[in-house]
Amino acid sequence: MINNRLINTFLDLVKISSPSKNEIGIKNYIYNVLKDYPLEIIEDTTGANINGNCGNLLIKLKANNHSRKKIAFDSHMDTVTPCDDVKTVVDGSIIKSDGTTILGGDDKIGVAIQLELIRKIIENQIEHCELLFIFSVSEEEGLQGAKNLATNYYKDYDAIFVLDGEGIPGTFYHSAPYNCKGKIRVVGKAAHSGVNPEDGVNALYVASKAISQLPIGRINDFSTCNIGFIQGGVARNVVMPSVEMDFESRSLDLHFLQHFIGEVKKTFQDVCSQNGAVFEDELSYGTPGYLIDDKSDVMVKLKNATDAADLSFELMSCGGGSNANVYNSNNVIAVLVGVGMENIHSTKEYVDSNNIIKAYRLVREIVQEYSA
Ligand SMILES: [Zn+2]
Repeated sequence: MINNRLINTFLDLVKISSPSKNEIGIKNYIYNVLKDYPLEIIEDTTGANINGNCGNLLIKLKANNHSRKKIAFDSHMDTVTPCDDVKTVVDGSIIKSDGTTILGGDDKIGVAIQLELIRKIIENQIEHCELLFIFSVSEEEGLQGAKNLATNYYKDYDAIFVLDGEGIPGTFYHSAPYNCKGKIRVVGKAAHSGVNPEDGVNALYVASKAISQLPIGRINDFSTCNIGFIQGGVARNVVMPSVEMDFESRSLDLHFLQHFIGEVKKTFQDVCSQNGAVFEDELSYGTPGYLIDDKSDVMVKLKNATDAADLSFELMSCGGGSNANVYNSNNVIAVLVGVGMENIHSTKEYVDSNNIIKAYRLVREIVQEYSA
C-alpha cells in the first residue's frame, strides 16, 4: 500500500461520491480533516443559489511574512458520472477505477493537493504570502460554482492557479478559446416528393449548399468549427421541410470569432434567400476564453517554480473551458495547471501517483515563488 498522506487523502476522496450539486460528502471530509487546524472555512451561498447541497468553500491563510503578494488556488469538488461506489485499483504507482466508474482524479487530485498544502503550511510553519484556497462546486455543470462565487473574495489577487488540468506537472494552459454555439435551422417547405416536389423547398439541400461554402474542422491555427448533430425531415416521401443543426465554433481570437460567426450567418441567409428558404439561429457566446502573455510576471514565476521543482515547463492551449475562464473574465489572471489526470470523463480514467506528488511539489514551489 502507498504510504503517503497526500495519496491517502486522494484515495479517501475518490471513494466519496460527489456528482455536481451533491458535493456535501467532500465538504464533510474537508471539515473533518481540517477540524483541528487553526483556520476558518467559509461556505458561500452558491449551494442554495443553484439547488445544490453544498456551496463553494473558501479558506484564507493571511501572510505570515512581509510578502505583499496574494495568490489563490482552485479545485472543484464535483465529478462527472458514473461516480457511485468507486473501487480503486492500485497497480504499482498507477491508480485507476475498476472500470465500472470514473476515478474522479478530475478534480480530486486538486482537492487533495490543496488540503495537503494547507496542512503542511500550518504544521511546518512555512512562510507564505496571503493564500486563498477555493474548493468549488458544480464545475462540471457549466462552471456554475466559479460563476456564482462573489468576485469580492478574489478580485484583488495577483493570480489564481486552477489545479484542474490534464497533462503532466509542468504543463500550464496559457490560453483557452472563446466559443459561440447553439442551434441553427434552415426552414424550407414541405410537399409530396412524388406528386409535386416543385412546390417544396428541401431544407437539407439548401443547408448543404450553405455548408459547402464554409470551412469546417480546424479552420486556422487558432480556430475550429463543427456541426455535431443534425435533425430534420418527416418522411421519405415528403420534401424535407426543415433541418436543425447543433453548431459550434471556438477561437483564441475573439475578434476573429465574431467576424467568422457573422460570415456563417450571412452565408446561410444568402443561400436561403436565393433558394426560397429561411435561416434561423439561436447562437450565443459561452464563457469567454483567455490568452495570457508568455512574458508576463505570472509566467516567469511559473517557469521559476517549475525549474525549482525539477520539472519541465510547457505552455499549452486548452481546447475547452475551466474555472480559469471565469476568473480571467473577471479580470484576475488565472492559469490552468496540469496535475497529471489522464483519460478524464471516462471509466478508463487513471493517474500516476508520482504525478500527484510532483504536482504537489510544484504547487509548493509556486507558493515559495510568490512568498519571497
Ligand atoms: Zn475538472
